[in-house]
Amino acid sequence: VKLARWVIGLLSSAPAAMALAQPPAAEHFVSFPHRHNQYVEVRLQLPVDGGDVELAMPSWTPGSYLIRDYAAQVERLRARGGEGRPLEVEKIAKNRWRVAAGDEQAIVVDYAVWAGELAVHTNWVEADHALLNGAGMFLYSAASRDWPQYLDIDLPPEWKRVHTALPQASAEHRFLARDYDELIDSPVLAGNAPEYRFSAEGHEYVLVNQGETGLWDGARAAQDAGRIVSAVQAFWGVNPFDRPYLFLNVIAEGSGGLEHDHSTVLLATPWQMRYREDYIRWLSLLTHEFFHAWNVRRLRPRALLDYDYDREVYTRELWLAEGLTSYYDNLLLFRSGVISVEEYLALLASEIHTYETAPGRQVRSAELASFDAWIKHYKPDANSINSVVSYYRKGALIGFVTDTMLRRVSRHRVSLDTVMRDLYRLYGPAGSRGEGYPARSFEALVEAAAGAEARSRVETLLTTVEDPDIDQALGWYGLQLDRSPLRTAAEAAGRPVPVDFGLVWRQNVPNLVAEVVVQGGTGAAAGILPADELLAINDTRVTRDNLADRMQRLAPGETVNLLLARHGRVFTLPVRVQHAIPEKYLVSIRPDVGRREKERLETWLGVALKFVKN
Ligand SMILES: [Zn+2]
Repeated sequence: VKLARWVIGLLSSAPAAMALAQPPAAEHFVSFPHRHNQYVEVRLQLPVDGGDVELAMPSWTPGSYLIRDYAAQVERLRARGGEGRPLEVEKIAKNRWRVAAGDEQAIVVDYAVWAGELAVHTNWVEADHALLNGAGMFLYSAASRDWPQYLDIDLPPEWKRVHTALPQASAEHRFLARDYDELIDSPVLAGNAPEYRFSAEGHEYVLVNQGETGLWDGARAAQDAGRIVSAVQAFWGVNPFDRPYLFLNVIAEGSGGLEHDHSTVLLATPWQMRYREDYIRWLSLLTHEFFHAWNVRRLRPRALLDYDYDREVYTRELWLAEGLTSYYDNLLLFRSGVISVEEYLALLASEIHTYETAPGRQVRSAELASFDAWIKHYKPDANSINSVVSYYRKGALIGFVTDTMLRRVSRHRVSLDTVMRDLYRLYGPAGSRGEGYPARSFEALVEAAAGAEARSRVETLLTTVEDPDIDQALGWYGLQLDRSPLRTAAEAAGRPVPVDFGLVWRQNVPNLVAEVVVQGGTGAAAGILPADELLAINDTRVTRDNLADRMQRLAPGETVNLLLARHGRVFTLPVRVQHAIPEKYLVSIRPDVGRREKERLETWLGVALKFVKN
C-alpha cells in the first residue's frame, strides 16, 4: 500500500511488479572529495509518504555511554524532491531536521560531516584513509529506522579497499544493512590498509592494520589474535557470527576499543608491539572487545535492548557488561596461551591496585557507578578518583571473587564460566526469551548454581561499597598479594622508602601542579587542592627535575612546610610526609603452595602449571 508507491520510483532496476513486494529502503551515498579538509559528503535517498519528514542523528553511540551530540559536525544540509525541486528544511532540535516534503514520494538529502576526531566512536578522514562510525554519519527517520539501509561508498581512485562487516550488495563498495541499527553498528575503514586473514574452528577473521609501519608485525598480531579467538569461542561454546568478523585496528597514538556485532574498532600506537607490557595491553583490549560480541552485543541488559539514540539509556548492569568482560579479557588471554602465568598475575595485580588506590570505591557501588556512567565514567574530572568507582575494575574483581566462591562452594562443579554460559543460553539470541536479561538475572543464576547465601554475597558486592574479599580468594588458590612491593624492596635493601603527599602531579607541564588530590592522603588533610602549584619545600625551591631527589631525603611521618601557589596567591601549608601510594601491587604463587591449592589454581586457569613445586 503505502510502500508500493515509494519503491517503484526508487528501485528502478527492478521490474515494478517485483518492486511491489520489496520493503522500502534508505540509501546512503558517501564520498570524499574534500578529504584533505576532513569533510565527508553524504547523500541520503529516502522514500517518503509526503508531508513533513523528521530526520535525526543519534546523540550517542552504543557501547560508549556519553551524549556526544554528533549533529554538531553536520553542515550544509539541504533537501530536494523529485526532479531536483528544493525542499524547505528547518532545524527543530539539536539533532533533528524537518523536511517539508509536500507530496514528494522520495527525498534526497545532502550534507557534509566534519570527520576530524580520531577515536573509536567518531569519524576521521584524511588523504589516504577514512574511519566512519555510523552514529555520527547517517540520518534516520522514525519510519526508516527499521528499513533496510544501503551504503554506497565512492572510493577515491587511489584507495583500494573498504572494510566493513556489512554484507556486500549488488555492486562493488555497495553494502546492505538489515536496518539502521545494523548500519551504525558497522564501522567502515576505507583506504589501503594491509589485512591479515585467519580462521579458527571454521570461522573467518580479518585483522586490518591501518597505519601499519615497520614497527608493527601484522602477521604475528594476527597469529596471536587467532589463538585468542579460539579461546573465547571455546569459552562460550557457540559461535554467533554469520560472516567474517573484523578487527579494525587503527595504529595512530591512540587507545581504546568499541564493540560491534561482527567487528570491533581498536586504537593502538605505532610502538605498541615493541614493548611486551604495551603489547599485552593491546592483546587484552582485543580479547575484551571480542568477548563483547557475546557479552553486551548479543547478551544484553534489557534496558539496552532498544536504543533510544536521543538520550541517555540507563542500566545498573555495566559491571556485568564491562566489568565481567574485563575479568575475562585477561583470564582468556592467559587461557589462549599467548601470555605467561606471571604476566597474567601481573594483570590481576594491576586490576586490584587500580581499584584499591581509588577512594571513590567508598562512595559509589558498582550498580550506581554503572547507572552514572553518563555523568561520571565518561566525564572524568580532578575529583573522579575520590567520587566514583570504575565498574570495569570493581566489576572485574567481583567477577574474580564470585568465580572463586562458586568454585569453592561447588567443588568446581560450577563457576562464573558456567553462569555466564547459562545466562547466554537463557537470554542470548537462541534463548527463548530473547529480550535481553532483566535486572537480577545474573544473581538468580548464581543462586540456582550455588544457593541463596552466594546470591546474597553477590548482591552485597553490587549494591554496597563493601570491598570484595580479594585476599581470601587469592589465598584459596595459594596466591599472595604484596600491596607495597617497592617499599618492601627498599626496606630489604636499606634504601629510603618511597614517600609522597597523596597527590598525583599533572603530566606534560613544566611546573609541579597537583592534578589529583587523593582523599585520605596527607595532602588532602592539609587542604591542598587540585591545580595548586608546589614551589618549595621548607623554603627551598623544588622543581619537576629535582622533586624525586628531594622526596628521597624525606622520611614518612615528618612534617614539612610546602610553599604553594593558587590562583596567583602564594601561601604555606604544613604537610606530613606519608608512605607513597604504591605504584604497583604484586601477586605471586606462595612458595609453600600446597597440592590442593595448586589443583584449584590449575582448574581455574585451565592449564597445568609445570613450574609449581609441590
Ligand atoms: Zn568494554
